[in-house]
Amino acid sequence: MTFVANLPLVSTIKERCRVCYTCVRECPAKAIRIVGGQAEVLNDRCIGCGNCVRVCSQRAKKVYSSIEQVQALLAGRKHVAAMLAPSFPAEFEGVEYRRLVGAIRMLGFAGVHEVAFGADLAARAYRRLLDETSRGNFVAANCPAVVGYVERYHPRLTHRLAPIASPMTATARVLHEIYGPDFGPELGIVFIGPCIAKKSEATQKGVRNSMDAVLTFTELRKMFDDAGIEIERADPVEFDPPEGGAGALFPITRGLFQAAGVKEDLVKCEIVAAEGRTGFVEALREFESGDMRARLLEVLCCEGCIMGPGIENAGPLFRRRARVGRYVREKMVSFDEKKWSAWMERFSDIDLGITFRSEDRRIPHPRESEIRRILLRMGKARPEDELNCGACGYDNCRQHAVAIHQGLAECEMCLPYTIERLRSTVKELAVSNEELARVQEALVQSEKLASMGQLAAGIAHEVNNPLGVVLMYAHLLMDKCESGSPVRDDLEMIAEHTDRCKKIVAGLLNFARQNRLVCRSTNLEDLIWRGLRSMQIPDNVKVELENNMGNPVIDVDGDQINQVLVNLLKNAIDAMPNGGRLTIGLSRADGEVQMKIEDSGVGIVPENLRKVFEPFFTTKYMGKGTGLGLAVTYGIVKMHRGDIRVESNADPAAGPTGTRFLITLPVAGQVE
Ligand code: ADP
Ligand code: MG
Repeated sequence: MTFVANLPLVSTIKERCRVCYTCVRECPAKAIRIVGGQAEVLNDRCIGCGNCVRVCSQRAKKVYSSIEQVQALLAGRKHVAAMLAPSFPAEFEGVEYRRLVGAIRMLGFAGVHEVAFGADLAARAYRRLLDETSRGNFVAANCPAVVGYVERYHPRLTHRLAPIASPMTATARVLHEIYGPDFGPELGIVFIGPCIAKKSEATQKGVRNSMDAVLTFTELRKMFDDAGIEIERADPVEFDPPEGGAGALFPITRGLFQAAGVKEDLVKCEIVAAEGRTGFVEALREFESGDMRARLLEVLCCEGCIMGPGIENAGPLFRRRARVGRYVREKMVSFDEKKWSAWMERFSDIDLGITFRSEDRRIPHPRESEIRRILLRMGKARPEDELNCGACGYDNCRQHAVAIHQGLAECEMCLPYTIERLRSTVKELAVSNEELARVQEALVQSEKLASMGQLAAGIAHEVNNPLGVVLMYAHLLMDKCESGSPVRDDLEMIAEHTDRCKKIVAGLLNFARQNRLVCRSTNLEDLIWRGLRSMQIPDNVKVELENNMGNPVIDVDGDQINQVLVNLLKNAIDAMPNGGRLTIGLSRADGEVQMKIEDSGVGIVPENLRKVFEPFFTTKYMGKGTGLGLAVTYGIVKMHRGDIRVESNADPAAGPTGTRFLITLPVAGQVE
């Protein structure tokens, strides 16, 4: 037989799980996998010890419920017997046991039996096994979680499991002998106890004369509640025979020895007891390695069945022991040894044999290089980076790395790793936030310029035609004027200023990107020299041209780009009344040409930086500046599908730092 679970004994309620990894830490079988930050109980690894159920503060672990199955049995079979585990006094503290028996009967059970009698039979079988000294060393098989653990994780020890049925199975076989002849398939047997793993023991196929279902005390209480049964008010009823004896001590560690009349021998270490999550794992390891030479090792997954996960009562260990002890003492007062011996005699030949089958669930250990690689991924390059803080639920970083390799864990479970990642994410977020703010500001700026452009274009169109008429008539009148006429000077004045107006209008149209481009392949370097030659560069201004783009020929509207250059160069010279350095750079990157015009002049104060491209913004005196230069420049660059940026006075406290205009123009692709 094998106790490998075929029931989903425990599962996680996802909504409740807060991923604290306590269940990972407490699981002796490493049967809890964390995937995508969620804890999942692996059915084929779970031994049903219920540690995870007990330690989960969020009550996020659900135990497989057998209530419906039991109700179906009660409704469908003629004789359903309950058998009560000897740990019941630890659960039903202060309750007169006869009332508990009465209450169980009220649920519809035909009889209530003591598993303590099966424990007596099992104890006798252990005694016999120990008497046959030639049979070697054994691990007691009374704890189903331990049996499941051995079958999966110490498969080589499977044949060392004592071939003796548990008290539960022993009692079930007794009941089959007593009631089987009368009821046959109409007999139902339900075990009620503190254990989750028993549920899987009960469902093992091919185990003759076993039980039909297993209820935990928690489930029994729920059935009482649902049926409106109050134990204290139930009529007292005695247990059905056969009566249990010292087997009632079974749920206490070393209870087996006491019931079997053997003593744990600390000198010879022939008979050893171990219990609890870490104790039993360690004991089995030593037993397998041969470090422990016990003839009989009694291992209990819990600190005795009285601490089982199916117990609701939260009382402490020694109080529970005292309850069970007191119950046994009180029973012994009225104990009818004769009757008991007769029962023992009747079942002296009952078959308590049982065999086990290994189900190896060990996962191969990764190679050292693999462990190192995973540790490195978690930022643990050196041994001192391995903090072994245990926050992940594993004892140390290496075990965590092994579990990651085995597909049971994730890097994110490592607290220092996650904190480090959060830190760098916060940093990245701050950077992208800054970037976002910058882009947003640029967007607002270009939207503002676009709406200004619309306005400017509207005005320019409207004004353009009347200006043309004024200019034409001024010239017509001039033609009619005799030379030397005083009116002629006035007319010339009108024509000259109308001309100026027309230029402003043309500038506005440029800003609003309303003009057409005539693109030809143009040598930018030539264009720059031509621009420089067309203006008067003061002697105290040193000009430098850095051409980093080899052959500087691209498709642009030469006249318009010339105007861009002239506007920028003029501004740069204006900004350096006492002379300085003027640098023009050409470079090419990512399908774009970049043109840089940098001066060492007075700079632009931060509050003006965002205004310089607006039409009519000027800081120059009347008549010197129109504030259209950069607006026109902006329009021309945008018409070329390019971009223009200005950088100046990054740190006003440091004094004038000059100004740099950066223009990018696409090399390939269409221009308007
Ligand atoms: P204008 O030159 O007619 O004033 P622009 O549109 O060419 O108009 O320039 C607008 C304003 O931008 C200028 O008045 C000046 O305040 C500022 N500016 C432009 N270029 C520079 C520069 N290289 N250095 C300092 N300030 C500049
Ligand atoms: Mg200007």
